[in-house]
Formats: sequence, C-alpha cells, structure tokens
Amino acid sequence: MPCYNEQEILPCTLARVAEFFANCVQDGLISANSFVLCVDDGSRDATWGLIVQASQADSYVRGMKLSRNAGHQTALVAGLSAVPDCDVIVSIDADLQDDLLVIRDMLAAWCNGYDVVYGVRNERRTDTLFKRETAQIFYRLMLFMGVNLVPNHADFRLMDRRALDALLEYGERNLFLRGLVPLIGFPSTSVYYARLERTAGESKYPLSRMMGLAVEGITSMSVTPLRIIAFIGILISSIAALAICYALIRKGMGHTVPGWTSVTIAIFFMGGVQMLSLGIIGEYIGKIYIETKKRPRYHVEDKT
Ligand code: UDP
Ligand code: MG
Repeated sequence: MPCYNEQEILPCTLARVAEFFANCVQDGLISANSFVLCVDDGSRDATWGLIVQASQADSYVRGMKLSRNAGHQTALVAGLSAVPDCDVIVSIDADLQDDLLVIRDMLAAWCNGYDVVYGVRNERRTDTLFKRETAQIFYRLMLFMGVNLVPNHADFRLMDRRALDALLEYGERNLFLRGLVPLIGFPSTSVYYARLERTAGESKYPLSRMMGLAVEGITSMSVTPLRIIAFIGILISSIAALAICYALIRKGMGHTVPGWTSVTIAIFFMGGVQMLSLGIIGEYIGKIYIETKKRPRYHVEDKT
C-alpha cells in the first residue's frame, strides 16, 4: 500500500484493513501472519509516524519508508520487492477507493488457478466528466500505439509468487506497471467493482501528473510515435516533391506569383511539425539517457 501524505485517511484505512484481515482469517481465507506493508513514499506529513505507531500496536502492520518522494509506481515496486516470502500479494491504494471486499473475489480467482487478477472498475461514476473523458482518450491512444492494457484497471491487482518474481525481472527505471504486468503472460483474469470516492485527504494525481503518467506509459511501452513521425515525414516529403514540380512548371510557363501567404503557412506548418517531432524523439532519448545511468530507483530510509 503506497502512502504519500495520507495522514487524514490512514488511521481509518488501517482500522478497516484490520477488520477485513480478522474476517478473512476467521473464514480460513488467509493465514494469520498475513500483513499490510505500508510504503511511505517520502511523505511530508505525519504519515510515517502513524505507520510506526500502527506497527507497534498491531502485528499485521509493517512499514517501510522511502528517503524521498519517488512516485506511486516506484513506491509500489519498492513494496513488491520487499516481500520475498509471500504466496500472494495485492496492491491497493491507501485511500481505499478500491473496495477491500473485492480481494475475496481475487483470492477466489487465484484459487481457481489464475496468477494475476486485475481489479477493473465497472463504472466511473465517482470521477469527474473530465477525468472520464481523458481516461477514455488515454486507453484509446494506448490501444492505437499497440500497448496491451486492461481498460479501467489501475494498480489494484493480485499477483502470486510466480507472477511477482517475473515482474521483478523487468529491470527498467521507468516503470509503468499497468503496461508491464500484462506482458508477463501467465493466466490472468479480472474481477469487477465500483470505485468509491476518496473519503478524506486529496488526490495526489492532479492533471499534470496524470499527463506525465500517460507520456510515461506510451513512451515506455511503445515506439509507434517514432513511426508516426517517420510516416508524417514521408507524407510531407511526397507533397513537397509534387509542389516542387508544380512550381517549376509554373515558372517555366512564366507565371511567377508573389505567394507570400502560402510560403509563410508552409514555414510555420513545417516548423511546428519539426518541433513536435523533435520533442517526441527527445522524450525517447531522455529515456535512454536515464536508463543507461542505471541509478537506483529508491532508497529505503527506515523499516518497522
Ligand atoms: N501515491 C504515492 N506517491 C505519490 C502519489 C501517490 O505513493 O507520489 C499514492 C497515494 O498515497 C495513494 C495512491 O498512490 O495511496 C493513489 O493516489 P491517489 O489516490 O491520490 O490517486 P487517484 O485515486 O486520485 O488517482
Ligand atoms: Mg485515490
């Protein structure tokens, strides 16, 4: 459970997790030494203090503190890397917008032989119209780029040991878990649920971060944008070749028109296309640069 500045909601979350665990243990669904690992992603509020306190009071709570804010995806990986002896893990947000009870369905699916179980939202009523629309565009775009994603699935998922070990073999610094997990290829299925509203605290995913995640998702999973650039290049070059022939013929016939407007438009248009293309190429080169440095993704500062 990644936690970033979640002091408002964490006490309530942990209480609900405790109740859920107790019920599941009673029903023989999970063993009594199951635990929740709270990864503090460099919070600046009282989150870590709350985690330490909870881990002293309850044996099922464990904590791990990253030295700085490394981001949701990296915090998840930090947590997943730190559970070497678990049969099965579930990743879930600290705000419990994803229903805990769905974990029962996930466990049932796991018992039926699935290594990965995706939590998929069956409706997005709790989202604003804007978020719904942008999410739609994002999934369509990813599909167009040839990336295999489970639509309306965020990072609420169950993975067993085998799938987790496979995931941890992916060594890239830029992580987009939603794109990577389907690549593992082990038997997987989905369970459906309605996502609730955040009851306290605020979303840590403003528009800028959502767009960052989208760019990350596309550029780390697909090279289609580079191909599109090449295609546009070929298209424009072909049009230019025709235009040159046309201009030469006109000149040969003695019709030389001032043509300021068309020249200006052509320059602005080409300038725009070139800048955009350079930007996309730059995004990939930046990625290569970051990957080649092989820097550690995060540092663990403290553990309970
Ligand atoms: N989170 C994190 N690091 C960050 C941003 C978010 O660990 O830099 C955690 C956050 O505490 C929460 C989860 O990621 O448990 C999802 O964030 P949030 O609920 O704000 O996203 P939303 O549900 O609004 O998309
Ligand atoms: Mg949330």
